[in-house]
Amino acid sequence: MFSRFFLSKPKLPLLVCLFVKQEISIVWFKRDLRLRDHQPLVEAMNCKLPTLFVYCFEPSLIADPHYAVRHWQFIFQSLEGMNLELKQFNTKVHIFHRETVSLFQDLHQIYDIKKVFSYEETGLKITYNRDKKFSTFCKKQNIQWTEYQCNGIERGRKNRFKWSESWHEFMEQPLLHPNWEHHIPADLSTELFDKLKGKKLPSSFLEKNKNFQEGGEPKAWAYLRSFYGSRFKNYSNHISKPHWSRKSCSRLSPYIAWGNLSIRQVYQKYQQARVQTSRKSPLDNFSSRLRWHCHFIQKFEMEDRMEFENINRGYDDLKRKFEPEKFLAWKRGRTGFPMVDACMRALIETGYINFRMRAMIVSFLTHNLWQHWKEGAVWLASLFLDFEPGIHYPQIQMQAGVTGINTVRIYNPLKQSKEQDPEGIFIKKYVPELENLPTQFIHEPWLTTNLEQQLYKIKIGIDYPAPIIDLNKAAKEARDKIWAKRKEAAVRIESKRILKRHTVPNRWV
Ligand SMILES: Cc1cc2nc3c(=O)[nH]c(=O)nc-3n(C[C@H](O)[C@H](O)[C@H](O)COP(=O)(O)OP(=O)(O)OC[C@H]3O[C@@H](n4cnc5c(N)ncnc54)[C@H](O)[C@@H]3O)c2cc1C
Repeated sequence: MFSRFFLSKPKLPLLVCLFVKQEISIVWFKRDLRLRDHQPLVEAMNCKLPTLFVYCFEPSLIADPHYAVRHWQFIFQSLEGMNLELKQFNTKVHIFHRETVSLFQDLHQIYDIKKVFSYEETGLKITYNRDKKFSTFCKKQNIQWTEYQCNGIERGRKNRFKWSESWHEFMEQPLLHPNWEHHIPADLSTELFDKLKGKKLPSSFLEKNKNFQEGGEPKAWAYLRSFYGSRFKNYSNHISKPHWSRKSCSRLSPYIAWGNLSIRQVYQKYQQARVQTSRKSPLDNFSSRLRWHCHFIQKFEMEDRMEFENINRGYDDLKRKFEPEKFLAWKRGRTGFPMVDACMRALIETGYINFRMRAMIVSFLTHNLWQHWKEGAVWLASLFLDFEPGIHYPQIQMQAGVTGINTVRIYNPLKQSKEQDPEGIFIKKYVPELENLPTQFIHEPWLTTNLEQQLYKIKIGIDYPAPIIDLNKAAKEARDKIWAKRKEAAVRIESKRILKRHTVPNRWV
């Protein structure tokens, strides 16, 4: 590795010292992979120093089980898109396969890094710890690291006093587009870059899989335009339907999660679209979700222990025994409940399902199978192309019924199946074993007789599993336990604390 190479050859740093190191600034890209409405880029150009653009594929993050190849592919595609556009300005984002701090240590031996610009990241513990290490490094080296507020999420908040007002203010501010005429690229020779860049990226990161949404600003804008152009019209009608939501929901989530679009860009386009249509209601429903996006991340920003612990500590002694067979059946889409299995397989295959079905599969795991939300959270993160820690963990806990402040919803997968996919279109697409079944059996294949199974060329228990649990019994047991717990003093005390910290009391309105 280059850092070791430097350390083992003392002559080189000496040599470097003989020259005056070039003063530079660095824009460190993280989950903000775009060239527009980007404050760190704007500020870097304003500071008038030669600037280097950097993205690090960090081995520690790659090894983290929340992340999977699909995420790295999306990121790579986003960076490729940026670099294609940056060619006209004779510059690029340098892509490294290194831990960030060690890269910056090496870069600082070559350059005199004066300033680093990035967005604040509301991330997992692993990135939070990395950022703390990075901050210590910057302080020691006298490097000024400025982090900018991301999507209206405020760092250091103690409560939600006027949060919504300041979110709206942030969204109304003019977009921050960099002035490329002011960009001075810092010199980084190919030879030096080759020494610094780290190991070759795994070839799987560079592959494209047509089943997943492709990363990058151009694709993000294509989704945004087609949504505001016409797809939004059925937004409210289709939002809970696993098949139709794939078209009528915006599908902007991965583009927002990886920063191909800022929420402000999406919000301001919503305002324009709203003026141009008489069908305002679906657009307004959509826009509230943009605020929810930030509301959940703000919650996680203010209480990030949610990655590991129940937000409501009153639920900590609710006992659950890990049952690997049940968990594996859920994870692989082989529970015997067609809608649950179709959702899981759709996720594995495409990285996407709609909100209602996400909630249902978490409910099935935590209530019907009575497994801890932690088991499922990491697996689902690795499947959701739009994995966003600040939405993911608060949502999982909410659906698992351990917040104490939200209504506990134990979704009935049979009811959801019949209501949201009555013809079984979605089920048949993702559970092809069931494609010969007539609609009357598609939601409950276990009701078929042996004769019918012969007729439809399927053996329940062999080609497709029989249900792994008694649904009604399991739901009742979960309901009893969760509601009994909710009445306990420990849960109530915590609920009060949570409400105080994360919601707006009436007296402030
Ligand atoms: C258990 C669980 C885990 C989830 N994990 C994630 C996650 O990791 N990343 C993620 O982006 N969303 C997550 N969601 C929220 C939601 O399901 C997705 O944002 C949505 O389905 C994405 O599809 P879309 O872009 O078509 O959404 P649209 O309905 O078109 O909404 C537009 C945008 O609003 C935001 N949004 C929509 N619904 C919600 C919501 N309920 N809460 C917060 N923000 C919302 C998203 O940024 C979305 O792109 C989770 C929901 C559940 C129940």
